Amino acid sequence: MKKTKRLLALFLVLVLIIPAMFACGNTDATGNTPVDTTAAEDTTVADTTPVEVDPTLNGIPVENYTVVYSASGFDFNKRAAEYISNQIEILTGTAPKVVLDTEAEVTENEILVGITNRQESLGIDSVEDKTEGFEFLSVAKDDKILLYGNEYMIAGAAYNLIKEISEIKTVTISTEITVGEPVFEEAKNVILLIGDGMGFNSLKMGNEMYESGEYAKYALYSGKYPQPIIADLLPYKGQNYTHSYDNDVTDSAAGGTALATGYKTYNGVLGLDNNLNPVKNLTELAQELGKKTAVMTSDVKNGATPSSFSIHTITREDSDDILAEYEKVTFDYVVDSIFDPAVSLREVLDSFENAENGFFMMYEEGLIDKFSHNNNYRSFYTAYARLNSALRLFFEFMMYNPDTVLILTADHETGRVTLNEETGKHEFTYGDHTQVNVPLYGIGVGAEFIDGKTLDNTGVSKFVAQLMGVDDFGDPSLEQITDKTGLETMTEDEKALKDKEKEEAIKNYNKKN
Ligand SMILES: [Zn+2]
Repeated sequence: MKKTKRLLALFLVLVLIIPAMFACGNTDATGNTPVDTTAAEDTTVADTTPVEVDPTLNGIPVENYTVVYSASGFDFNKRAAEYISNQIEILTGTAPKVVLDTEAEVTENEILVGITNRQESLGIDSVEDKTEGFEFLSVAKDDKILLYGNEYMIAGAAYNLIKEISEIKTVTISTEITVGEPVFEEAKNVILLIGDGMGFNSLKMGNEMYESGEYAKYALYSGKYPQPIIADLLPYKGQNYTHSYDNDVTDSAAGGTALATGYKTYNGVLGLDNNLNPVKNLTELAQELGKKTAVMTSDVKNGATPSSFSIHTITREDSDDILAEYEKVTFDYVVDSIFDPAVSLREVLDSFENAENGFFMMYEEGLIDKFSHNNNYRSFYTAYARLNSALRLFFEFMMYNPDTVLILTADHETGRVTLNEETGKHEFTYGDHTQVNVPLYGIGVGAEFIDGKTLDNTGVSKFVAQLMGVDDFGDPSLEQITDKTGLETMTEDEKALKDKEKEEAIKNYNKKN
């Protein structure tokens, strides 16, 4: 059965997408060339008013539609319906009514968002499996326009429809299913998502836990919201080294500092280089560039990762000092103890949506590390599901704001998650951090750079700065961002040398502070 669906999907790709790829630029969904609305302007010098064409969808003025959404796609369908109505209001001055399918009578001319209870939606559920990864679809049936996309991908379908309406004006949706994919644009918004303690095998273990079904109740929205692990959907995949300046195995302070500033430092140090001088972090850089800024975490803000992206001090242990340092921070948002990203993240993203110079946001899922230290599977899964939940929101945001790039990485792995050959499952085998490389994944324009590469953690920072248009961020002695900047295993002599260096640096630091 599954295989038949796959073949059908392949058939659809061949029949529907490939011809669409060859269709030339300015055509609508049926392949017809739309009326050129600009031609009239050139003929007369006096008349500079562009000819206004009332946007229509399959011949009907767009504002005459009712937008009907289904609760089956949770909030994603509802928000897509509201987006369509708001955008049509901007274009025409009239907002189409938005209704929940089960609460409104069937009327003429409806845009159906998700799989509604309208009879025209029948059969569309069989196409669910035809949209994989980052695909969505549209199809016309009689006086109904049907849009479908799995969860957050409905946003892609809604965005595409509005884009066509505003650009082409007279849009025709085909009676045959048209599959679409998002097209990302030059990024001005940068999202950095950090799973503290999340290694490649943590991802695999999380997937297995989801598939087993045993852990569903420990996920956010348990029961009504299954949480497939979607981190693997990110199209560009690389990895990064994690060691700190003085240790093969980093802690979250040195790891966070490398990711945030592009400088290696000693374990325990926040936002200072190996001479213990303060170094600029990506959030401060973004602020200088006139971007909106947010540091967000599910952990406390004086945790090592958010602190690395916010403040500069010698030790992660002194939380009074850290909190005092936070008093100086002027970012737009510092939000900690996030329980439900669906609430906390959306609020911030909404407020950033129209930021002129875009924004930089670092979001940390901090508890993957904590519960990997404890080898606590249930709580690990809760944290991991929350990271995926954040990812869903980011994906949805990117559908509406394709000038956004997202990078997912980790500061280090925790728990030495290993495949147990006997059970065929991944398990914790250790209670601390390890030195293995960690995932570096991405989506959006610019993220293709990391595909197949191994970066140093300082290189990740330099790369993220490049995404914001800055080429000389971080330690200038580390020129190539793909350079490996240290030995994977330090010798005793090397360690002794670093210890001496650290002692000296602390002396100088104490003199100054
Ligand atoms: Zn840890």
